[in-house]
Amino acid sequence: MPKRHALQTRDHHRVKLPLVYLLSTGRSGSTLLDVLLGAQPECWTLGEFQLLDIGVGRQLPCGCRDPIGQCDFWEPILERVRRSIRFPLGHFRSGRHPNGKVVRWSLLPSILTGGPLPTQQAAADAYAVSNLRALEEAKEAAEEHQDEVAWLIDASKDPYRLLWLQASGHFDIRVIHLIRRPEGFVANMMRSADVRGAAAAIKYAGRWLVDNLIGLALVWRMFWPEAVKRVRYEDLASDPERTLGEICSWLGVSFDTDRTKATRYVVNHGIAGNQPRWEALPVTFEENWRATMPPLQQRLISLMTAPLKSLWASDRAEAAAWNPNAVHARRRALPPWMTRSSSGS
Ligand SMILES: [Zn+2]
Repeated sequence: MPKRHALQTRDHHRVKLPLVYLLSTGRSGSTLLDVLLGAQPECWTLGEFQLLDIGVGRQLPCGCRDPIGQCDFWEPILERVRRSIRFPLGHFRSGRHPNGKVVRWSLLPSILTGGPLPTQQAAADAYAVSNLRALEEAKEAAEEHQDEVAWLIDASKDPYRLLWLQASGHFDIRVIHLIRRPEGFVANMMRSADVRGAAAAIKYAGRWLVDNLIGLALVWRMFWPEAVKRVRYEDLASDPERTLGEICSWLGVSFDTDRTKATRYVVNHGIAGNQPRWEALPVTFEENWRATMPPLQQRLISLMTAPLKSLWASDRAEAAAWNPNAVHARRRALPPWMTRSSSGS
């Protein structure tokens, strides 16, 4: 393809754009990881970058709380960014699938073959180049706000976006594959969809399984092992200092412990996500499912996801679940007559 060839020739001497990509199912703590990592001195988060266009159109709040496109970070560059976009950044979040799609049958073969099929190549190229131009503008702007920007962070989560970016060869991508214990993911999904019962638990456990299998296949096929780090939500939330320290050392950047104590240590200009992006919140380890989910459902989810148990079961996660603070939290949840007797007063 002459067009592709021309592009490669022109970009031959280009330094690849450094990008940390957060890959995960939804509701697994990606915003928490995004804002904590983005607050580190040499990192800069853009949040769910694929939602930039959509966010501007809907006047969604930026991480700084002003509408995206009207804040002091995005406003000065937005026109240039939008002019450089030839292919919608929100491609994987548009149309009938505003929340993204778990299984895209047309793209699964390209995960296994390690790159877009010939019929998808032109779209994948246009998508990657549009992202490159936009991210270059964002990096330049970030460097005016912060001394050093070694890594931009993209918390888009979507595996198919990652596939097209990586296949282009324009980026130096490090992937953090964030995985939450399936019971926690299922409980969180059921709560947000306001559904109950074993059928819903099975549905979301299946989604966890498929999502993570696709993520695993993608990173296995398209990345060197050194470029991928698996992080458990349970480790992140129970010990953010240690987890962020390990991530920064892997990325080769400086690490500031103070910036792991709460979210929003620095103002961020990230797109989409949830509360930790907009509010300074202490990092809390949320495992309500242990108390609220019926034991049968827990057993069911555990059985369904057993083939990938090595992804989520760790000594550290188990230890954190049984640490004195967690036990204390459970005691506080007991009925008043029990806490009175146990306090011995
Ligand atoms: Zn902003």
